[in-house]
Amino acid sequence: MLAGHNGADPVGSVARRTHHIPDWSTECIRLSATISAVDFALAPEDQAFGDELRAWLDSHLPAFLEKEAIDDDAQLSGERSQKRRQAWQRLLNEGKWAAIHWPKEYNGRAATAMQRVIYSEVMAEYRTPGMFNANGIWQIGPMIIAWGTDDQKRRWLPSILEARDHWCQGFSEPNAGNDLANLRTTAILDGDHYVVNGQKIWISTAHLAKWGLFLLRTDPTAIERGAKHEGITAFIIDLETEGIIRRPIRDMAGEEMFNEVFFTDAHIPVDCRLGGEGEGWMVAMGTLGHERVGIAGQVSILSADLRAMIEAARTLNPDALRDPLMADRLAKAWTEIELARLLSLRALSRVIKGEKPWPEVQFAKLQWSYLAQSLAELAVDLLGTSGVLARGGPDTVDRGKWTRLYSFQRYSTIGGGSTEVQKNIIADRAIKLPGQARLS
Ligand SMILES: Cc1cc2nc3c(=O)[nH]c(=O)nc-3n(C[C@H](O)[C@H](O)[C@H](O)COP(=O)(O)OP(=O)(O)OC[C@H]3O[C@@H](n4cnc5c(N)ncnc54)[C@H](O)[C@@H]3O)c2cc1C
Repeated sequence: MLAGHNGADPVGSVARRTHHIPDWSTECIRLSATISAVDFALAPEDQAFGDELRAWLDSHLPAFLEKEAIDDDAQLSGERSQKRRQAWQRLLNEGKWAAIHWPKEYNGRAATAMQRVIYSEVMAEYRTPGMFNANGIWQIGPMIIAWGTDDQKRRWLPSILEARDHWCQGFSEPNAGNDLANLRTTAILDGDHYVVNGQKIWISTAHLAKWGLFLLRTDPTAIERGAKHEGITAFIIDLETEGIIRRPIRDMAGEEMFNEVFFTDAHIPVDCRLGGEGEGWMVAMGTLGHERVGIAGQVSILSADLRAMIEAARTLNPDALRDPLMADRLAKAWTEIELARLLSLRALSRVIKGEKPWPEVQFAKLQWSYLAQSLAELAVDLLGTSGVLARGGPDTVDRGKWTRLYSFQRYSTIGGGSTEVQKNIIADRAIKLPGQARLS
């Protein structure tokens, strides 16, 4: 049995009674032995960064959680939840902990890639509330900093950072998801504004957002010319503009989190264009790049979730923890999370060396998405009847979190690059399989 990375056995004595060591375990132990020679010690400035964050959370988080306590299940959704996220982001910003990777002049800390991972791990460890503008902070803000004019930076960065307005990201269309460059919503220049027509889909929280970063086609001939990556332009759009309709889509978890967004002759001022005409693809790739480095933080959340579900099972369904098959699944989950963490660290190490972080990023994404789904299934099995109770009932566990995750985590093999497409990339570039063997 491998020990937890804090030295603790996450399952307790139960797993030690597991007799059968499957093949994957042997492979993991072999890999762990290989990486035991790696020095995981933090540089003094990174250690200090993590210590400062922990000290800040110790002195601010308990009071915040007490003041903004979630008293009933209904409060978890809707306006109340948004207000709580807004308050938390504002408090973080007061401590310069909201946008750590932004430059210091914008209340950031110019955090390195290593510090971003430490930040994600510490936030997961403390199980902090979500931020109001996570998308804006991690993806859109850095793009405005990189591509925006001084006027645009002055106008929009405070709106994101200080949680004044909510922001969303509008890329996908009915026929442009994985094949994003196939997007066809047009923006045609007409004097001092662009006229926008078309449809976006799956836009998270667009119904709550005032602003969004959108990719639109300013050169409609590009697709016919066989140059679909050209003629795409990025815009910051005020979603309250006339001619824009947002329609929430109900997902299988019962939530209305993402939306269709329809444009009919919507007029978008020229000064809302981010970067030049035709530079949208470069703007988008920068944004998605930020999304992908975020996997390390997601792995930390899985690790915290695993500990939490075991803790819940100790009181709610202790018999499950005495079941050798369940113990085997828990040990496997822990080992695989640790592997995903090491893969993310390997990708990070490449980033720090200035190398391209692939195929590790693709592998980490695949591993994370598989784990996110299997862990949610494990939670529901582990907690027995309590695990399947949805939000709202008197006996619901953790406000229905595990049941919700069971449905919601289906997204993990779609969002941020779907499994099949990631596998194609790995087959092509890492394994160099012949074309006919690929999924296509
Ligand atoms: C929870 C969630 C939140 C989202 N939020 C946003 C958001 O805020 N903004 C936004 O713009 N978008 C958002 N999206 C959309 C997301 O980016 C797309 O769902 C994603 O890009 C996949 O596109 P698609 O749904 O059109 O699927 P498609 O690209 O049509 O894929 C459908 C299926 O075909 C497979 N497939 C596609 N191409 C290939 C190929 N070449 N080879 C083999 N298989 C292939 C895929 O793997 C998949 O299984 C969100 C999605 C989810 C699930």
